[in-house]
Amino acid sequence: MLIVMTHDATDAQIDAVEEAVRAMGLRPEPIPGSLRTAIGVLGNQGYVDDTTIRELEGVREVIHVSKPYKLVSRDFHPEPTVVDVAGVMIGGGHRPVVMAGPCSIESEEQMHAAATQVKKAGASILRGGAFKPRTGPHSFQGLGVEGLKLLRQAADAESLPVVTEVMRIDQLDDVCRYADMLQIGARNMQNFDLLKEVGKLDMPVLLKRGMSATIEEFLAAAEYLLAEGNGRVVLCERGIRTFEKATRNTLDLSVVPLIHEMSHLPIIVDPSHATGKRSLVPVMSRAALTAGADGIMVEVHPDPEKALCDGAQSLPGKNFSEFMTDIDTLLDFLRN
Ligand code: PEP
Ligand code: MN
Repeated sequence: MLIVMTHDATDAQIDAVEEAVRAMGLRPEPIPGSLRTAIGVLGNQGYVDDTTIRELEGVREVIHVSKPYKLVSRDFHPEPTVVDVAGVMIGGGHRPVVMAGPCSIESEEQMHAAATQVKKAGASILRGGAFKPRTGPHSFQGLGVEGLKLLRQAADAESLPVVTEVMRIDQLDDVCRYADMLQIGARNMQNFDLLKEVGKLDMPVLLKRGMSATIEEFLAAAEYLLAEGNGRVVLCERGIRTFEKATRNTLDLSVVPLIHEMSHLPIIVDPSHATGKRSLVPVMSRAALTAGADGIMVEVHPDPEKALCDGAQSLPGKNFSEFMTDIDTLLDFLRN
């Protein structure tokens, strides 16, 4: 951060600014100029709230040299981060992961069938929601803790790690007991209290992009997790809201290479929620991996017609092996 003083700022005003910077636990570094004095601010680990500084007499402007997402940025950490989810490595050039499973956990039979199908096809992480953020209150809201137990049982039977969504701080104990990775959904990307609490945990996190979040907001949300000490973060592009109605969201694939330029965190793509259409999921999965995604998350249901949530975008479990064969062929091709 750089504080630029007005040309007629007095020595007392400059001293007061330096004192305010010190009071924030930071180090002021005056840079006298022929026209005006600037004060560099050093020692900050993240974004600095400049409200008090801006209000001081003699301050002309405050320039944020560092970005609001310093800890997640490549400048701060040039090496790519690899996130270990119960032995499955994500990012840093590891073979891209496939997370697959139903939108929601519905029953023991459904979850077991889904787990068997995704494991057999070669996916490495099982997904399924027990706490569902539904647009309307009359839609299926998820099985809650009962669902978490079913998810865990099905995953253990197939030796798969699980990722599942947590919506509220008071669900964290339960979700951490049954999950290997916590998902923070698009609707909660800016639930800052939840981010702060999850940031205090030693658990991998899948942070999905908010449906109207800019890349800067997405990275700033991830910064909350890192600022609290949790660096085990995987980002997920899941489509954004645009004027287009033919797809559920608009898949913003350019974020994949862009995030790789801007941040050391891995990024995966969810083509199911991004498109809302089963027919588009295979090709957009391949597009995501071609763009360099560190993985994909796809919804797979044993019987999509009967799904309680997101059936139209779910791949039928019985065809999932074909999908995975195409993915494997592509990944082998991309690697060579
Ligand atoms: C989900 O993955 O189950 C989900 C609700 O996705 P999103 O938060 O991206 O809408
Ligand atoms: Mn879904």
